[in-house]
Amino acid sequence: MKILQILRRKFSSSQIRSTATPSLSSPFFYRQLYSSSNPASFGVAFDIDGVLLRGSNPIGGSPRALKRFYDASGTLKVPYVFLTNGGGVPESKRAKELGSLLDVNILPLQVIQGHSPFKQLVRRFENELVVAVGKGEPAEVMSEYGFKDVLSIDEYASYFDNIDPLAQYKKWTDKQDGNQSSKSKHIALSNDPCSQRVAAVFVASDSVDWSRDIQVLCDILRTGGLPGKEIAHQPPLFFANDDLAYQALFPSERLGMGAFRIAVESVFNAIHPAALKYTSYGKPNPSVFKNAETVLMHVLQSCHNNNQVDGRKQLFKTLYMIGDNPSVDIKGARQAGSPWFSILTRTGVFKGKENHDDFPADLVVDTVEEAVDYILSKECIS
Ligand SMILES: [Mg+2]
Repeated sequence: MKILQILRRKFSSSQIRSTATPSLSSPFFYRQLYSSSNPASFGVAFDIDGVLLRGSNPIGGSPRALKRFYDASGTLKVPYVFLTNGGGVPESKRAKELGSLLDVNILPLQVIQGHSPFKQLVRRFENELVVAVGKGEPAEVMSEYGFKDVLSIDEYASYFDNIDPLAQYKKWTDKQDGNQSSKSKHIALSNDPCSQRVAAVFVASDSVDWSRDIQVLCDILRTGGLPGKEIAHQPPLFFANDDLAYQALFPSERLGMGAFRIAVESVFNAIHPAALKYTSYGKPNPSVFKNAETVLMHVLQSCHNNNQVDGRKQLFKTLYMIGDNPSVDIKGARQAGSPWFSILTRTGVFKGKENHDDFPADLVVDTVEEAVDYILSKECIS
């Protein structure tokens, strides 16, 4: 109700005076508010872990906060995206999961994950064998982007006898190997993976089995993509993010993909004459924020049924980044510059009383709900 009170104050004098005053909860009111002549001039990017969710649990009043961006009929009225370094499932599936956890209707378009930029590399590797690493469904993620010959590292390693000398001690291995349907699907697309060169490796999400993955990655990367063969030129290696740590259910932070990257790099550089080459995506990379701005424009267009917003003319006056990690979310928004405005919550990695020393945010709040309160007050009153 608070937002409606805010909106009433802003529009009470001019816009609504000449018409019969509609109910504030009616679709008519929102059409007046976000008319074609006045599309939202702001957009919002939410980090997920530590801001909206901890594990699978909503935090900081996140379902209530997000609902304020929809009208009474459930139609999206404020362009927003999820800008996370996380991943491991296709964006379409993540949108459904988030929708059910946060109780709002989310478009796949609104979900930008750490590995989303991998789709820009489809042309380069479309028909070549690539290996996808990480928890969840990394091969399905890559297939949905258009990569035609992709194996998860679980599947790939299973073709090589004794590639992991510790496999017999890993109790979970039998369960993973039982996933025959996924394996046979990819066999149909691949030649014998043992004799086929791996053209690139994509670390899409957090590695589940560091010891096996570091071993197999070193095998692939040191041999030009042919484990067990001679030393050769390193194939390209891509990481979805470079987060050293993230906030999960455990009280203190957990090691993230950046920590795994350090481990791979340290081992590789100790056993190989040339230093490891790799590319990392994800926040705080400025290109991620530039891409988010483009996606927000598409979301804005979808809010207006694609016909009321001219993307060439409409520029966002303010883009809000709401995050919990100063060195990722806030650093990224600061580097991206105008029109980004950074808001730091205290529900995740950052727990300080004041602002962060090294990467101070434009605003620090306790919860995402407070952040949304602030945004709607600022956009609608001042
Ligand atoms: Mg976070």
